[in-house]
Amino acid sequence: MTLALYNTLTRRVEPFTPLAAPPARVTLYTCGPTVWNYAHIGNFRTFLFEDLLRRYLAYSGYDVFHIMNLTDVDDRTIKAAAAAGKRLDEHTAPFVQAFFEDRDYLRIAPAHVYPRATQSVPAMVRLVERLLERGIAYKGDDGSIYFAIAKFPTYGRLSRLETRELKVGARVASDEYAKDDPRDFALWKKAEPIDEQVGAAWDAPFGRGRPGWHLECSAMSLEQIGKCCHAETLDIHAGGVDLIFPHHEDEIAQSEAATSKPFARFWVHGEFLNVRGTKMSKRFGNFLTARDLRDQGVDAAAVRLLFWQTHYRKALDFTDDALAAAGAGVKRLGEFYERLGRDGGRGTGDGDGGGAGGGGGRLADLAAKFEADFRAALDDDLNAPRACAALFEFVHNGNAALDGGAGGTAAARAVLDRAMSVLDILPSAKAADPALERWIGERLAARDKARKSKDFKEADRVRAELAAKGVEIEDTPSGTKWRLV
Ligand code: AMP
Ligand code: ZN
Repeated sequence: MTLALYNTLTRRVEPFTPLAAPPARVTLYTCGPTVWNYAHIGNFRTFLFEDLLRRYLAYSGYDVFHIMNLTDVDDRTIKAAAAAGKRLDEHTAPFVQAFFEDRDYLRIAPAHVYPRATQSVPAMVRLVERLLERGIAYKGDDGSIYFAIAKFPTYGRLSRLETRELKVGARVASDEYAKDDPRDFALWKKAEPIDEQVGAAWDAPFGRGRPGWHLECSAMSLEQIGKCCHAETLDIHAGGVDLIFPHHEDEIAQSEAATSKPFARFWVHGEFLNVRGTKMSKRFGNFLTARDLRDQGVDAAAVRLLFWQTHYRKALDFTDDALAAAGAGVKRLGEFYERLGRDGGRGTGDGDGGGAGGGGGRLADLAAKFEADFRAALDDDLNAPRACAALFEFVHNGNAALDGGAGGTAAARAVLDRAMSVLDILPSAKAADPALERWIGERLAARDKARKSKDFKEADRVRAELAAKGVEIEDTPSGTKWRLV
């Protein structure tokens, strides 16, 4: 078996075949957060399903290059910055930082690059120019640049919406009369006073303005895969189902109209996290942030397991009871893992030959069966609920085997370690102490500030201060990581 994924483009589960066999490079682009505010755990359900996809691709032997953008200029960020009386970058910076902290709390593997919209404007301008040159974009009466849908015959292929519905999706009351066709969408919006006020306007040959949200993702993904892989086609593009239309439909139109190449081979979309049947959303006020959970002392492993227990293409209703049940599962798993280490460590005749038969290798046999079931489940369109069911069956039978003094613990632990490289749901080594975590976050910010102003003495002093409390830090391209030692 090999990995098969549901491709929204074809509405079928298809074998995932990258252009070459493993360890082939797989390019993965996931639409990132809009950093106007804190992301809620609904947003993180999508980012976690993408984490599962990314990690399972790596487990399957692929060399994944993961790009996640940060939407730091759009209608919402501009409005929020203006309301706070701040410049755009001043308003978004703390939310970018918070996003990275939440990502680390939830154990989401960092993407390889996080292009920011505000830092990728030249690529956006180039893309608009390319579309203008090809006659697919035009300047509307209001000075904004629009994409002419009539010039892109395959528009609507991803979302399969009827023309009537497409019109509704693209309608923006104020610019309705500026466009040649009501379905056309803005690539570049002429600068308004509010944009100038917050510093969200850029000069371009076709007029001062700012990018549309759809344009941002096309330009950033094409720029990044060009840099990393000299490519103009992504292997996988992912996001939440609400992005299929118009966001992803428009990304396809802009990118393919410019490159004449398929934009993405696989389109993968995750379903919503709901609260009592309603989508979790800032707009409905029914949301919870990752930091809320962290402050309540919730182990991120429980959140991950809770999400894995529902297939990514099914809606999931968030409840405290379900989270508590996942927490109990994580604990049970942690105890089993510990037991494997302890009993193996005591050297109870560990016949550890992988598939060794008989009493000595019982745990190795159970582990081998689990691993086969785990792979079959995840190969089948990332069926994580089935993978988790196989895991807990292994825990159950493994505990019974340990009671009977069976061997094979080292092999069992190795299989679990491999599975955990995907699921990552062992309990946190130390229960998170919210006050300590806040203090660490505050100290890391102080160190960062000192480093930025080249005050390395102060930065070293903060490092020592952290070390004194048992906090070890490491600077990585995606920020400073810490752990308790
Ligand atoms: P945004 O920050 O609004 O750009 O959204 C970031 C991601 O979160 C997108 O991929 C959305 O599809 C996704 N998203 C938003 N609300 C939910 C939800 N309730 N459940 C799952 N994903 C969501
Ligand atoms: Zn996007």
